Amino acid sequence: MSDTTVRHAVKPALNLTLQGISGSPGIAIGKAYLVEQEDVDVVEKRFIEPENIPAEVRRFKEGVKKAQKQLQSVIEEVPEELRDHTYILDAHMMLLKDRMIYNGTIEHIEQENVNAEWAVKIVVNEVKSIFKKMPDPYFRERASDIAHISKLILENLLGSGPSTNISHIDKRVILVAHDLSPAETTQMPLEKVRAFLTDLGGQTSHTGIIARSLEIPAVLGLGNATQLIKTDDLIIVDGSAGVVILDPDEETLTRYQERKDLFEQYQAMITRSSHLPAQTTDRFQLTVMANIGVLEDVVSVIDHGGDGIGLYRTEFLYLNRPTLPSEQELFDNYRDVAEIMAPRTVTIRTLDIGGDKFASGLRLAEEMNPALGLRAIRFSLQSPEIFETQLRAILRAANLGSVRIMFPMISEVDEIVQAKRMLNQAAESLEKAGIPFRADIEVGAMIEVPSAVIMADILAREVDFFSIGTNDLIQYSLAIDRVNKHVAHLYQPLHPAVLRIVQRVVEAAKEAGIQVYMCGEMAGDPVNLPVLLGMELDAISMNPISIPAIKMLVRMISLKESKLFLEEALKQPTATEVIKLVQDTYGPSFPKGAFSQANQD
Ligand code: PEP
Ligand code: MG
Repeated sequence: MSDTTVRHAVKPALNLTLQGISGSPGIAIGKAYLVEQEDVDVVEKRFIEPENIPAEVRRFKEGVKKAQKQLQSVIEEVPEELRDHTYILDAHMMLLKDRMIYNGTIEHIEQENVNAEWAVKIVVNEVKSIFKKMPDPYFRERASDIAHISKLILENLLGSGPSTNISHIDKRVILVAHDLSPAETTQMPLEKVRAFLTDLGGQTSHTGIIARSLEIPAVLGLGNATQLIKTDDLIIVDGSAGVVILDPDEETLTRYQERKDLFEQYQAMITRSSHLPAQTTDRFQLTVMANIGVLEDVVSVIDHGGDGIGLYRTEFLYLNRPTLPSEQELFDNYRDVAEIMAPRTVTIRTLDIGGDKFASGLRLAEEMNPALGLRAIRFSLQSPEIFETQLRAILRAANLGSVRIMFPMISEVDEIVQAKRMLNQAAESLEKAGIPFRADIEVGAMIEVPSAVIMADILAREVDFFSIGTNDLIQYSLAIDRVNKHVAHLYQPLHPAVLRIVQRVVEAAKEAGIQVYMCGEMAGDPVNLPVLLGMELDAISMNPISIPAIKMLVRMISLKESKLFLEEALKQPTATEVIKLVQDTYGPSFPKGAFSQANQD
């Protein structure tokens, strides 16, 4: 039968590939379920007579109150498997009463004589744009949290009620939505969800975070998936590659079914051995630690066989609240992490955020280049009270577990000297007050700015360890904005310049006799492992779910061969050639599925 005859007989498959952002790895094949969401973005502007302004303000307050009640009932009904994530909903609860949004809207109604819906829209857009300009992608994506709560308020004001109702789904589907709020995600009957697809969102959006921890494949940031996909369409989701195939043909279906089986076999294999040490065949032991952002992540670290915490990003406790956390609150949190992880080490990184970027009460200073602005250690040194509170909390927690401290974005020796001076002062003040603490805590510098690489030999005299933050180090040395999708293809961890830079830091650390770690995303991608092992880093730290695969691959290589491999890799002129070398050398001996799906074709 000719090809044309077939076409006449059955409608040809569309086989349309959509490229998005990988939200959570894994492959799913099934029918789509399009989550209908009403657009509450279109709101009218109405002028309110001065005598009716108090009533309009009351209407707004009622809308917020109702939203709080709705969220509260969602929190109370969160299913057991999602309990770890209620902090996201708690944060939304706080955001509803955030001063910038709540008071800002009331002021806008009163000053501009406008209806509540319009005031919410204007104020929320302003706040969202502030978040979107933040240097850290995590905070940038919190703009979507603000969008979710404003939608909730607007639905109440407009009387349209919750716009999505997905709790009734009764078959296993691939959910396709414009965006999913944490409240919506937690209300879903998860046993019915094969995968998530969204038009909006990025890797660090909450849909991604939740999907990863539930190990459900997800592709985010698809742009217009909700316009292209209809309920009951057959789709393939490749969460590892961030790809969706709409209406696949037979051949594609078979290929992906095989990949799905392989992925699942591979996952089962690595999970079984995640608690074994990462020891090479010639007995070199690499410490494989985890990066966490909140206390709740500790469970996942232990489940995935993490040897400790190489990076605790401490920003979360400063977010979405009108006041700063107290020393006691910080201490309680750090102590819990230290105690749960004991005897394993916990590395607490001091605040990596600009002062104008967390406390909603503060007015924001606009920065032309926030990534080059007042962030991380620069902010801490300029805000001694906030810094001292955090330092005291860390020193106190160090008394109850194996805790060390690390300072972010060090770009000159003076910063580390000053930070250490403040650490000593914090210790003295605790001593005077008779509060128990530990003084001889290990101090580290994050190496994530090119000037720190160049000065690494001198910096090494001041600290006990270096931790290489490749997320920023690559951004600053290759001049690639780490969250700009237009230059994302140039963001290459295996760029020969990056390899030389990392090697230089490792050599400086070894010459000075201090330890050296890596805690950027580069550390968790299997394709980078042979070169990192060849450099003989003391430890690498990554997203907890990446740990089992990395540990297993370490057990398949020898340190000796990886050193030889590194020598070859360093001779390559481009990242593409380094990647090819990795695949040619290790592809045949590593288990199928070891490198990401995207790299396998
Ligand atoms: C890094 O820059 O590599 C890093 C680990 O820190 P963050 O991603 O929090 O900037
Ligand atoms: Mg960084």
